[in-house]
Amino acid sequence: RSLKSAGNDIAELTTNGVSPSSVTQLDKESQPWTPSSWTTKPIKQDAVYPDHKAVEKSLTKLDRLPPIVTPMEIMKLKASLRDVALGKAFLLQGGDCAELFDYCEENAIESKIKLLLQMSLVLIWGSNKPVVRIARMAGQYAKPRSSPTEMVDGKEIPSFRGDILNGYGLEERTLDPERLVSAYFHSASTLNFIRASISSGIADLHGPLDWGLGHVQDPELQSKYSGIVASITDSLRFMRTVGADTAGQLQTVDLYTSHEGLLLEYEQRLTRRLKRPSSTPAPREGQVKSQADDGKAYYNTSAHFLWVGDRTRQIDGAHIEYFRGIENPIGVKIGPTTSSSDLLALLRILNPHIEVGKITLITRYGASKVRGLLPAHIKIVEGSEYARSVVWQCDPMHGNTKSTSTGIKTRQFADIFSELQETLAIHKEQGSYLGGVHLELTGDAVTECTGGSEGLGEDDLSLNYTSFCDPRLNEKQALEMAFLIAGHFRG
Ligand code: PEP
Ligand code: MN
Repeated sequence: RSLKSAGNDIAELTTNGVSPSSVTQLDKESQPWTPSSWTTKPIKQDAVYPDHKAVEKSLTKLDRLPPIVTPMEIMKLKASLRDVALGKAFLLQGGDCAELFDYCEENAIESKIKLLLQMSLVLIWGSNKPVVRIARMAGQYAKPRSSPTEMVDGKEIPSFRGDILNGYGLEERTLDPERLVSAYFHSASTLNFIRASISSGIADLHGPLDWGLGHVQDPELQSKYSGIVASITDSLRFMRTVGADTAGQLQTVDLYTSHEGLLLEYEQRLTRRLKRPSSTPAPREGQVKSQADDGKAYYNTSAHFLWVGDRTRQIDGAHIEYFRGIENPIGVKIGPTTSSSDLLALLRILNPHIEVGKITLITRYGASKVRGLLPAHIKIVEGSEYARSVVWQCDPMHGNTKSTSTGIKTRQFADIFSELQETLAIHKEQGSYLGGVHLELTGDAVTECTGGSEGLGEDDLSLNYTSFCDPRLNEKQALEMAFLIAGHFRG
């Protein structure tokens, strides 16, 4: 498990009579994987700490701490994502760009759960399918940055890299290893409150929901959205009346957690070799890599779902090496810089046994580029052995970030919806299924994206701009996005 043994394994492969050229032709999976084998590969967005002893101390602590999520839950999500890949369900994933430790607070957590729940109801109504909910929450603490430093008041200082690495305050920018342990506890506390709220009935559809549509200025939209809410409310009333809730399904929901698997030191420590849940099908031949199958597999127990970011998905890089060994369902961001051959290579490395629903391709091109780029990506995947095995998910946020003339990072609601609409249309033309959306949102009344039926303009951005990274949809804009998607499905 140590760095040293991972290095030795690979050295052995190259010296045991296998020539280097045939090594490169070997099936990737036949090369030994361990939770630390990523350390032998080139890495992007690396964390270089000033004090190594303190890092070791934190990592040793993390090694001992119990899993935050369990294999049973992870495999339940994987089974649900299989349904999404097969076109039988829809996936809603959303939350902050950068979750702060400060967001580990009752109201912030509650408003996000409620928003995701309401959006999911609208999407169920629209798509006529079950909706799988994944929050970008309880661990979304590490951020890739385009530059390691930034200029503040004429001084060059390290960029903010997320609460797990350093602080936003100008005095806190040095990487602090104690934050690794702090991230674990904030993640665990957040998930604890999510679990407690759900088991105490926050998602109980027997109670009335506050849809708060008062802000919608356009009377036509107001009546359209009110119509959708009335229809949802009527359906719920009907189900209760006819006693369709025998299994208590109106009382509770599943809500899974996710984050970008960026800081591999942390992810490695939360990666545990654990017993496969008994309902999981036995692994196929060759699926268990370096050890005899003792009924166990490696699970990343820090979250149910992790994704690799657009900046760290190099085929031969550390992140892809790490991701290929875990059982969790995983996402890969793909965009304008992804070549079709890399896309296929990624699938072959990350999902050699073509498990349906294992990989979610999170596409993010930008409204003006999606038409030119997505069709080729769909064709290469759906024309390969991976046809019908991936979840296609649209992230309409990250290709549409702009700066205002005064230098504020923002996104226009219209651009976000435009990429989503275009993506839906392209999948329809190609005969593939857009299985979900990936949104940056918050349950609070922030002013970070312009547009939407509140009519936020650039001048309004300064009113309540609180994001420490990318601009998020506020609660009204997010709900409206769900109404628009539902409207699209209903035609
Ligand atoms: C993100 O999801 O916040 C992010 C950094 O996205 P991407 O990797 O697509 O740029
Ligand atoms: Mn972001």
